[in-house]
Amino acid sequence: AKKAGPGSVCFFEQADDRLSRDRKALQSDLEGAVARNELFLVFQPFLELGKNRITGFEALLRWQHPSRGLVPPSEFIAIAEETGLIHEIGEWVIRRACATLADWPEDIRVAVNFSAAQFHNTAILQTIVQALADAKVSPSRLEIEITESMLLSKYGSAASILNALLQLGVTVALDDFGTGFSSLTYLRKLPFSRIKIDQSFIRDMLAQPDCAAIVKSVISLARDLDIGVVAEGVETADQLEYLRQTGCDEVQGYLISRPVSADNVPALLNTRKLR
Ligand code: C2E
Ligand code: CA
Ligand code: CA
Ligand code: CA
Repeated sequence: AKKAGPGSVCFFEQADDRLSRDRKALQSDLEGAVARNELFLVFQPFLELGKNRITGFEALLRWQHPSRGLVPPSEFIAIAEETGLIHEIGEWVIRRACATLADWPEDIRVAVNFSAAQFHNTAILQTIVQALADAKVSPSRLEIEITESMLLSKYGSAASILNALLQLGVTVALDDFGTGFSSLTYLRKLPFSRIKIDQSFIRDMLAQPDCAAIVKSVISLARDLDIGVVAEGVETADQLEYLRQTGCDEVQGYLISRPVSADNVPALLNTRKLR
């Protein structure tokens, strides 16, 4: 083993240690993040193509770390899920999203992302009811976004929470559609109000005929099932035009707007400009 000299095995062990130390540090920093007010939401609009108007915003979580700067959700949501912190963070997100929604016009909705762990805990229902009541906003203005993979593990509990949300008047969207399995079965059995076509399909649809075929079928499927359909990750005018012609209800993406702070929402609602 000695013969390996500096580098090789030893080097990798150190790199590995550093990685796990770093992760632990991030984990312990995340523990106090809510209390220290380091989390905030940004909002990305949904544009309805038919009327060319903004119908709502998706709330996206951000973490302003005191020394690392802005940490994206891809780097801390998984940690929050593993440690159980997602429950506290998720509750904060719902409360914050509802409170922000209270400042917006009545016909504007907010969509909130859920993690699987949150979705299998019935306490979430009480949190939602309370957040809506405290903010004095109608449940019909809140939408929950869940992914197909969340339905795979504990289908029964997911279905009962979904139905309870519907009873409350909260709508549910199926996020990242097309990236999981058995989507069609879920669509038939569960009361989704909207499908969000995953951005990977939108990105490739104009270059790859098979992607275009999938996008077209999902849009027509949504129409037949009488549920809404949103295309995510729209970045070019050509993509937008294609989606318009294909009959997509709503689009979301950098072309329309990057996620913005709550302060910038009123201006966005006023201009509603495309391109
Ligand atoms: P998502 O729910 O699929 O959100 C869409 C992601 O795509 C967002 O990344 C958004 O900023 C990005 N995006 C929007 N338009 C475009 C576009 O035109 N092009 C490209 N390339 N990207 C676009 P973000 O904000 O980094 O969020 C990543 C993921 O983190 C989200 O994916 C969601 O799964 C998760 N997430 C965000 N906020 C929350 C939260 O409050 N709770 C939970 N549980 N998960 C969250
Ligand atoms: Ca989402
Ligand atoms: Ca998505
Ligand atoms: Ca995604």
